[in-house]
Amino acid sequence: MQASPKPLSDPREVAREADPRHSFPSMDSILTFRNVSKAYPTAGSAPREVLRDVSAEVGGGRAVAVVGRSGSGKSTLLHLAAGIDQPSAGEVELLGRSLGGLSDRERTLARRESVGLVFQFFHLLPQLPVIENVLLPAVIAGDRRALAEQRALALLERVELGGRADDLAEKLSGGEMQRVAICRALLRRPRLLLADEPTGNLDEQSGERVMELLLRLARDEGSALVYVTHSRELAARADETWRLHDGRLELA
Ligand code: ADP
Ligand code: MG
Repeated sequence: MQASPKPLSDPREVAREADPRHSFPSMDSILTFRNVSKAYPTAGSAPREVLRDVSAEVGGGRAVAVVGRSGSGKSTLLHLAAGIDQPSAGEVELLGRSLGGLSDRERTLARRESVGLVFQFFHLLPQLPVIENVLLPAVIAGDRRALAEQRALALLERVELGGRADDLAEKLSGGEMQRVAICRALLRRPRLLLADEPTGNLDEQSGERVMELLLRLARDEGSALVYVTHSRELAARADETWRLHDGRLELA
């Protein structure tokens, strides 16, 4: 006999069930941490262990907030996810492929194909027009210019910067710069978007606006999003929260 389904009583569960993202069949893993540890050498004898036996998974289209005190390993976690840094032990898998099994070159290509990055300090090229900043990943990858440009302009429209495409990046406000950086990160339709304190350098109001756009665009594009934040409110906007504490990852 089949057990009858458990009634949904928790309103959050009800909301979750009603949310199409959660009933979407692809709970395919975009990013997997399998017993990942990361230690950095120190001047003393014992290496400093920043992450300890971390296991976690991000499914397609999900948004995960990473929280934890300064120095708790949040950026380290994102660097491992992007293949910018390597774990001391364990495996990081991107789209089911172990990054540890790849050469440096292959890892770079995997990142280029599948990962978009947004940083706290935007990292735009100030002397280049906005549109060229957005196009940079396509130029590096050797994509066809015309198609990439269409896509870049469409993204800029969606963050309400369509009219600023030809302005130099340095002319923009912080919030606008971050919106450009989001367009750049999404240009090549990455399955995974990583954002390290994307609102950390913005005032509260433009920070909220940027986070709103980041969440909405990631959802519309079907990109999984992992973002670091210090804001309880902004963390609450994610589907789940990972809390780093003493090297451990706890689901909050
Ligand atoms: P968070 O982003 O949570 O503030 P980080 O991941 O940047 O934390 O850093 C976690 C710890 O690892 C910190 O103590 C930091 O000093 C140390 N750390 C980070 N990167 C390096 C590195 N390349 N070499 C040595 N120690 C590092
Ligand atoms: Mg950090």
